[in-house]
Amino acid sequence: MAARTWDVLVVGGGVTGCSAAWHLAGYGAEVLLLEQFDLNTQASGRNAGSLHGQIQHGSFLEFGDEWGRAFLPALLFLHRSLDIWRGLGERLSTDLEVSLNGGLLIAETADQMRDIERKVAIERSAGVESDLLDRQDLAKVAPYVSSRMVGAQLSRVEGKANPMLAAPALARAAIGRGAHIQVNTKVLGLDWGNGVFTAITSTGKVTARRVVLVTGNSLNRFASLWGRPLPIMDDPAQVGATEPMAPMVHHLVYYAGGQLTFKQAKAGTLLIGGGWSSDIDPSTGVTRVNPANLVANMRVALRVVPSLAGVRLIRTWSGAGLATPDLSPIIARLGPPGLVVGVYPHMGLTAGPLLGRVLAQLALDRPSEVDLTPFAPDRF
Ligand SMILES: Cc1cc2nc3c(=O)[nH]c(=O)nc-3n(C[C@H](O)[C@H](O)[C@H](O)COP(=O)(O)OP(=O)(O)OC[C@H]3O[C@@H](n4cnc5c(N)ncnc54)[C@H](O)[C@@H]3O)c2cc1C
Repeated sequence: MAARTWDVLVVGGGVTGCSAAWHLAGYGAEVLLLEQFDLNTQASGRNAGSLHGQIQHGSFLEFGDEWGRAFLPALLFLHRSLDIWRGLGERLSTDLEVSLNGGLLIAETADQMRDIERKVAIERSAGVESDLLDRQDLAKVAPYVSSRMVGAQLSRVEGKANPMLAAPALARAAIGRGAHIQVNTKVLGLDWGNGVFTAITSTGKVTARRVVLVTGNSLNRFASLWGRPLPIMDDPAQVGATEPMAPMVHHLVYYAGGQLTFKQAKAGTLLIGGGWSSDIDPSTGVTRVNPANLVANMRVALRVVPSLAGVRLIRTWSGAGLATPDLSPIIARLGPPGLVVGVYPHMGLTAGPLLGRVLAQLALDRPSEVDLTPFAPDRF
């Protein structure tokens, strides 16, 4: 590692860190990104690939209308990021398998449809548009769903991307702009003095004038160093993939009667999830699939799409998700001048391209393109 003082040190090689490095280098900064393992090996490479653009229905039912209204700035953040996703593959010269055909939140009962209508009204108040489909409309756009289903919300801008491709492509583009990336280097501590940060890493010391911390669920450990613990909770989750199928599902699909998302990847596999919890091994801290939750997840999927009964599940995996108390992101300066942190709970793949850009702006004292007041940690 060269003995130099970097303009910016980025800690964390997920989608957010790789996006931040790309933008920082684009703004002309000398950037070093450090990742403890390999790039994209944690949440960013293990998620379900959904590009979300609606208030999550399960959270809406749990926390209510007032929470839904308070979440609108976070929803608009996702939509701004979706705008970036739309052209990202072209900008990175990589097919990220992005499609934004819309999202279907399917209802089985009239009561569920009424809940959806309340949620849609809140989303519309922020300019986020959806169509409400009756049984016949739903059967036309999603003929594979059970005839028990009575209708749906069709949100216009939602979809999917391949999470295995996004962060690596951002990293390659960052390197192309002159950023340095070093993997297998864990940041163990961070000191500050005379306007310079010194990171103590598993491979030596690194100095930088500014630091972007995007370490996912270990962010709180760093924040605590500066006496500012953040309310970031572990929320590990799991996903399953079926064998490849002929093209069938053209939307990101959710169910209003239970925890479920699914979408069909370009390879034909159906990725089935919906935020079902996985376990964490108490001795290693590593996540592992919870079999009972996997079965429950597949039961919900079968209720919505009975024809899946003949399809084999070929792979399951888990990852270290995280949550904040209000499910909105934390994006802020913290501690000594030049230190910025960012985390978007549950939907950080969707948010990653914009979150990285906003953190680059914050780190370089540029005006943020987004009002960050709703995302300040002092709201807790
Ligand atoms: C199973 C699952 C399914 C999900 N599904 C979706 C979905 O469909 N759509 C969606 O939008 N979001 C989804 N998410 C959430 C999304 O994956 C995350 O919000 C997002 O990937 C966070 O990206 P990140 O770069 O901020 O963090 P991460 O991807 O967690 O990256 C942080 C990186 O920091 C590194 N790091 C940590 N500590 C150190 C250290 N001390 N030194 C050096 N490096 C360090 C880690 O190794 C890691 O690589 C899902 C999450 C899970 C777990």
